[in-house]
Amino acid sequence: MHLFDIVRSRAHWERLPAAKKKIHRVAAESRSNSQPTTIGNCFGRLSILLALVWLSFCFQAVPVSGQDKAHRIKKIEARVQRLQADPACRDDVYGLIVVKQALASIKEGSGGIGACLVDETTGKVIAMGRNRQYKPWFRSDLHAEMDLLTRYEDWMRKKGGRETAKDLRAGPHLILVSSVEPCPMCLTRIINAGIKKMVYVIPDETGGMVSRMDQLPPFWKKRALRCNYRQAACSPEIQQIANDLFNFSMRTWGLKKKMEAQ
Ligand SMILES: [Zn+2]
Repeated sequence: MHLFDIVRSRAHWERLPAAKKKIHRVAAESRSNSQPTTIGNCFGRLSILLALVWLSFCFQAVPVSGQDKAHRIKKIEARVQRLQADPACRDDVYGLIVVKQALASIKEGSGGIGACLVDETTGKVIAMGRNRQYKPWFRSDLHAEMDLLTRYEDWMRKKGGRETAKDLRAGPHLILVSSVEPCPMCLTRIINAGIKKMVYVIPDETGGMVSRMDQLPPFWKKRALRCNYRQAACSPEIQQIANDLFNFSMRTWGLKKKMEAQ
């Protein structure tokens, strides 16, 4: 509208009687309430529609469906199958064994952590374990290291014990290998089992206890004095897989909880 027209219509409005002004106001309100279709409105609706389409794509990208989980497992399984132990990394052979156990845990629906027990004198793996916390039913004690030690101790008992029939504690020649730094529960079990040597593929900065040994109760700290627990010397590829397997389950659990909370 031209400035002259604006001034003229304003002057015209001022001259109108109050009754007519009221009629114009009611008519204007009625027009605005009826929301006639304009280019602006169309554009607004189109924007909302596009935003909804974009959001639907975003939600599809979140890995929560069973089908998507199966696809992610296949991808990580293919990576594990391609892994080779690097002779330059002295713990790679056992690192590979425990990540394979961690993969088996994921496939079963539990946490992505694996463990094994090695006889240092022969280099042979004498027991294997993995996280079985969620399948076939919930067992809060069945972390990978706990599962491993329970299986080993049961096996020793069936065998009739090793050195003595009464105390089945492991000898100094055993090395426990875990794909992730043990938590407080597992660490005290490892100490109690008499395992003097233990290595883990990746540290767990928020849940690991080996890096916090100085915070153990005095009794356990004393018992762990002659123990050698450290991070394994594994290749970056094996460390990466161990990390991805560990976070795979954590992320799935976190997403599940988030979805349930909504
Ligand atoms: Zn644990």
